[in-house]
Amino acid sequence: MISVPSPVGPPVADQTTGPTGDEWAAAVAAVRAVPPGGRVLLLCHVNPDGDALGSMLGFGLGLTRLGGCAVQATFPGNQELPPSLGGMPGSHLLVQPDEAWADPDLALCFDVASTSRLDTLADRMTARTAIVVDHHASNTRFGGIHLVDPTAAATSVMVDQLLGRLGVPLDREIAECLYIALITDTGSFRFDMTTPAVHQFAARLLATGISPAEVSRRVFDSRPFGAVQLFGAVLQRSVLEPAAAGGQGLVWTHATLADLERYEQPPYVLEALIDSVRCTVEADVSCVLKQVSETGWAVSMRSKGGVDVSAVAVALGGGGHRLAAGFTGVGSADEVIAAIRAQLG
Ligand code: AMP
Ligand code: MN
Ligand code: MN
Repeated sequence: MISVPSPVGPPVADQTTGPTGDEWAAAVAAVRAVPPGGRVLLLCHVNPDGDALGSMLGFGLGLTRLGGCAVQATFPGNQELPPSLGGMPGSHLLVQPDEAWADPDLALCFDVASTSRLDTLADRMTARTAIVVDHHASNTRFGGIHLVDPTAAATSVMVDQLLGRLGVPLDREIAECLYIALITDTGSFRFDMTTPAVHQFAARLLATGISPAEVSRRVFDSRPFGAVQLFGAVLQRSVLEPAAAGGQGLVWTHATLADLERYEQPPYVLEALIDSVRCTVEADVSCVLKQVSETGWAVSMRSKGGVDVSAVAVALGGGGHRLAAGFTGVGSADEVIAAIRAQLG
């Protein structure tokens, strides 16, 4: 199903920590082995962020450029996407999880560190040909072929490399998906993994004609007035604990289902809240507890570098990166923060 390869762009993932030559070759061969009219199922993690969705849909568009196969893209759980991600190119590939092929010829998952993040769709990755495309150091290598590089700034970096090896040129639609993924995971090029090669990748994406201003406004800077007021109320109750984390400091707040109801906002508006809390200079570690049920909390954690929050998250049943991690907490907000405080030591 594959046409003649075109030159690959400059490397943006570390060749020493990334996939081996054999792993890249196996992934390319697996895509090429899809029979004419074969079914390729693309998956990403629950509550997808820009990197999960952008990497999945960007690769999906790449497959459609190659032609010769049928493509589905999906993710588990709540299917309501925030407006910031709703209109992404390639969205026409999305299907409901219960419509996803049970026995695809090839399955790929994007930005998924472990099967728990695939929830009800985890069984699709037991297919003989299953490729894991990811950049989490905590990746549990649950597929058949693994394209995992913990030094990659986003999963979309891995997607760019794979598309290059498959001979798919970047076009404006693919680039918009991969750019949204890149700016989401690098905090618009502010975070640690923003190397010169990341900017070179961004330059190749922008060269397709996408508008960084328009994309950034849509992804980061669009919020209903009710959400602005909700943020004010939730930030007002932030707690600073200078002695926590061995004296490096903890700042945290919590948002309840009642808060969402009062300001008539859907849960996803709270995803950006951590960015306002983590500004606090007096604390290395920041947390936001977002209530998801009577005793369930989606917890977001960030560190400025003094603490490995992924270790805290893993100890509490979650995962993530050294400076950005999360888990699902159970109990009251005070009980969940007490468990975090204890892990921070
Ligand atoms: P978030 O705070 O939701 O933006 O998540 C930050 C990072 O933590 C993500 O990149 C995920 O890798 C990870 N993460 C968040 N929630 C979970 C969870 N429940 N289980 C495992 N990893 C998580
Ligand atoms: Mn993600
Ligand atoms: Mn990611």
